[in-house]
Amino acid sequence: MDKVFDTIIIGAGPAGLTASIYAKRAMLNFLILEKWLPGGEIANTYEVENYPGINNVSGAELADKMIDHTKELGVNITLESVDHVEFEGDIKKIVTDRNTYLTKTVVIATGASARKLGAPGEKELSGRGISYCAVCDGALFRNKVVAVIGGGDVAVEDAVYLSRVAKKVYIIHRRDELRAAKREQEKMFAIDNIEPIWDSVVGSFNGTEVLQSLTIKNKKTGVISDLELDGAFVAIGMNPNVDYLKDAVEFNDGGWIVTDSLLETSAKGVYAAGDVRNTPLRQIVTSVADGALAIYALQKYL
Ligand SMILES: Cc1cc2nc3c(=O)[nH]c(=O)nc-3n(C[C@H](O)[C@H](O)[C@H](O)COP(=O)(O)OP(=O)(O)OC[C@H]3O[C@@H](n4cnc5c(N)ncnc54)[C@H](O)[C@@H]3O)c2cc1C
Repeated sequence: MDKVFDTIIIGAGPAGLTASIYAKRAMLNFLILEKWLPGGEIANTYEVENYPGINNVSGAELADKMIDHTKELGVNITLESVDHVEFEGDIKKIVTDRNTYLTKTVVIATGASARKLGAPGEKELSGRGISYCAVCDGALFRNKVVAVIGGGDVAVEDAVYLSRVAKKVYIIHRRDELRAAKREQEKMFAIDNIEPIWDSVVGSFNGTEVLQSLTIKNKKTGVISDLELDGAFVAIGMNPNVDYLKDAVEFNDGGWIVTDSLLETSAKGVYAAGDVRNTPLRQIVTSVADGALAIYALQKYL
């Protein structure tokens, strides 16, 4: 008979890595699957200033520390992408790009990915001047003119980061005030080469081979103008990474996985942790807390 794991953790970001630490310490027979690089979204984060006990650390450093912690405990991360799942019955099936696994419980910790704007030219010029990760691609725009599109924490963080590399950074927001934390806004407004463009939306991304300009519409005045630049960083939020789940669990209207207070989904024995679920706060600290709670809860279930 095929081996049946106690649990399979899908995703090795902060939530999944923490779940693996708790699973190892609970001596569970488990697998942790990761489709890309362990560390998740924090590996793309320039600076983390709000994780207790570790101040002013780069996201990559914090990710390395978490991965080292799991290695010290003897956790092996299996680099496979989950393609589809079957959650009916007591034994669940997880099908990856290479194998099929059986398990009594599952921790879904696949996080979220950057949302697209959906404007004309975005698809064609993506990777040719349009980016969704300032930390990954910012260095390509040394002494160039760039824009960040968005008004939340990530948009402001991106603008601050890019101001150290680029000659000029516009931050384009559809309202006349930002949603980002006040402290981060103050930091940003104190930087000379950052200029906000308020009440404006991007109508199109223009360029033949590479991005050359944005067409912008001011929502209050109706004025349409072209902004010449070299790079645009879209920072308008995230979508959950749940395609592989199809309809195996319940989602809310935004597409996030619905869980109860012990992080169990609508499928018995299947838990969701971190950014992928319907949590009001998507941060490292909340994701690691979820990873721990999911293992606690599934042990009770087992
Ligand atoms: C630019 C940026 C800056 C941020 N700055 C901060 C900050 O300063 N402080 C803070 O607290 N938070 C910050 N965050 C938020 C923080 O990164 C997230 O809350 C956290 O990473 C969520 O952890 P997670 O484990 O739930 O998901 P993720 O980190 O998204 O990890 C999910 C993992 O699952 C993997 N995966 C996805 N699909 C599959 C599949 N089908 N099969 C296998 N594996 C899969 C992914 O490759 C990924 O490694 C920032 C986020 C961004 C984007």
